[in-house]
Amino acid sequence: MIDSQAIQENLAHILQNIRQDELNANRPENSVRLLAVSKTKPIEAIEAAINANQFEFGENYVQEGVDKILHFQNHPQHQALTWHFIGPIQSNKTKLIAEHFDWVHSVDRLKIAQRLSNQRPTQLAPLQVLIQVNTSQEASKSGVLLQDVAPLCEEISKLENIELRGLMSIPAPTDDPQKQKQAFESLEEVFESLKVKYPNFDTLSMGMSADMSAAIASGSTIVRIGSAIFGARN
Ligand SMILES: *Cc1c(COP(=O)(O)O)cnc(C)c1O
Repeated sequence: MIDSQAIQENLAHILQNIRQDELNANRPENSVRLLAVSKTKPIEAIEAAINANQFEFGENYVQEGVDKILHFQNHPQHQALTWHFIGPIQSNKTKLIAEHFDWVHSVDRLKIAQRLSNQRPTQLAPLQVLIQVNTSQEASKSGVLLQDVAPLCEEISKLENIELRGLMSIPAPTDDPQKQKQAFESLEEVFESLKVKYPNFDTLSMGMSADMSAAIASGSTIVRIGSAIFGARN
């Protein structure tokens, strides 16, 4: 059973928190967008969010995301909806992503970006792309190391059917607020330096249910919130 009312109350509460975090950080009102991460959650949960005027959704699994996108093609609000792919990308899945999603947050190598560009249908708007950065410097995590971001941007920015909009990160889980802040700030620093060179760079995707406020304090422009909206995942 989906509790639509709970989802709508959670959304209102989170939006309120975002506005407060913007104020606390001396940032303009509405400078941070809310991406509702609906992975593993059913159609009815997304419908409840749409009815509360939430129009941006994030999905991690290609086939599940595509099924949802196709389902909502007949929804009266479908023109307003924006679908973001935020999960790990295997090269055999790039075609489905390029054909169905509006944004991709998780590009971490040139080969994937090239495939997305080649496979993006030309009658669609360019695919909006973020580079996923590994701010914790652990070799095992996905994402480009900080020092490799600039050269990758250089290559990706030349591609035809994608538009490079910024950076994304999933910091290693830590309960040390100082470490959390460090990870966000190191990403913000690289983001600011790249903005000078790339005029379309305007999106810094960081912050999830547990670390949203710290991310907004460090310049996040879009927070990816799942469990705090839709409840815990199984
Ligand atoms: C699942 C997920 C989220 C949302 O996480 P919550 O803790 O549920 O808010 C955000 N970003 C990515 C990349 C995710 O995979």
